[in-house]
Amino acid sequence: MSVKIFLDESEIPRQWYNLAADLPTQPPLAADGSPLTPEKLSPVFPMNLIEQEVSAQRWIDIPEEIIEMLYRFRPSPLKRAVYLEKALGTPAKIFYKDESVSPAGSHKPNSAIPQVWYNRQFGTKTLTTETGAGQWGCALSFACSLMGLTCKVFMVRISFDQKPFRKVMMETWGGKCVASPSNETEAGRRYLAMDPNMPGSLGIAISEAVEAAVSDKSGSTKYTLGSVLNHVMLHQTIIGLEAKKQLAKIGIKKPDVVIASAGGGSNFAGLAFPFIQDKINGADIDIIPVEPTSCPTLTRGLFRYDFGDTAGLTPLLPMHTLGHNFMPAPIHAGGLRYHGMSPLVSETVNKGLVSPVALPQTECYKAALQWARTEGFIVAPESSHAIAAAVREANKAKEEGKEKVIVLNISGHGHMDLAGYSKFLNGELTDYALPQEEIDKAERELDGLPKIKG
Ligand SMILES: *Cc1c(COP(=O)(O)O)cnc(C)c1O
Repeated sequence: MSVKIFLDESEIPRQWYNLAADLPTQPPLAADGSPLTPEKLSPVFPMNLIEQEVSAQRWIDIPEEIIEMLYRFRPSPLKRAVYLEKALGTPAKIFYKDESVSPAGSHKPNSAIPQVWYNRQFGTKTLTTETGAGQWGCALSFACSLMGLTCKVFMVRISFDQKPFRKVMMETWGGKCVASPSNETEAGRRYLAMDPNMPGSLGIAISEAVEAAVSDKSGSTKYTLGSVLNHVMLHQTIIGLEAKKQLAKIGIKKPDVVIASAGGGSNFAGLAFPFIQDKINGADIDIIPVEPTSCPTLTRGLFRYDFGDTAGLTPLLPMHTLGHNFMPAPIHAGGLRYHGMSPLVSETVNKGLVSPVALPQTECYKAALQWARTEGFIVAPESSHAIAAAVREANKAKEEGKEKVIVLNISGHGHMDLAGYSKFLNGELTDYALPQEEIDKAERELDGLPKIKG
């Protein structure tokens, strides 16, 4: 029995898989509803990444220099959760891809490294971004330190206060981190004037980071996004491509169930897209994105054109959304509190290729404790959603007496997220389902934006 399945460095995937080739989506629109041309995106992103964003090519070569940087932590191990299996008494085999082994502690460097590399090729000197729980801000600071770019991070204030050591990590890699809303941008000052104690949101932090990039008229400052966009999904597919090779090594032709948490969609896309390609070609696989009941974008959100940020500075994306004015409940899975969703992930839901579920946070923490007390690792609150869904699937396999193969993604470790664990251990966490009024309100707001055709 294999508990850990490794790949040699020579076995690292050398191309990313682009789901857009097999699953076309509606085109994004400019903020005024007109067609979005590459030129309109060019103040925000470098042209080489814009080309990747709109590419319909199925396989895209990973530049050799990027592969050499990824060797620090890739290929990541695939592990079998035998200790949890035993505790559950399930006939299912539970495998997990361990993305917590990167320097930043999550899957996010898989896209941070390529994004910084393409920006450097293009001559960018400074990158701005937003971060929720701090994972993406850390990943980008780390990647910028490898390639000598300046990094400026707007961190959602509630997470900034809950996770002070994330800022220290960013600073250790040479990044700069401010709480958002901040005084540094027009958008930030506007929200602070409305409420000086505003907890912030990813939508507001994105507005600030985009404004900070486009207001540098020299053109040497660009913006980066850690999820949602097609090129980010593309970079993350290295996770699932490795997982397939690792399963093949132990003679497993295909998993029965694939599970990952979904915030903006990138870690889910990373593991799942290569398996979704198989499903499009006829394979029978249940594929499950998992989200919190407090931010139920895929299970209850509307499929509409919406802005990626609160101030309406980004293009309009065709996606599942809770509305760009969404103010998330202060749950501890900071990375899962985004109002929107990757258009590609949204389309997999529309086409019935995946079956999203929303889970309450106490069930997720309960699963995280069981994981810690069997497998041993303390996972990120985001990853606990995937574990809780896997526990449900493993119990189902037990009832059915089926020896199913379940693969999940551990998107990160929880060493910087112990405030949430502390609250759960002290019985201070409650469940919260988003009230229907909030979704109705979003629907009225979205009615003013262009409609998706067809
Ligand atoms: C950012 C993050 C997520 C969720 O974001 P996606 O955009 O859905 O990938 C999940 N887990 C961890 C550890 C994260 O840092």
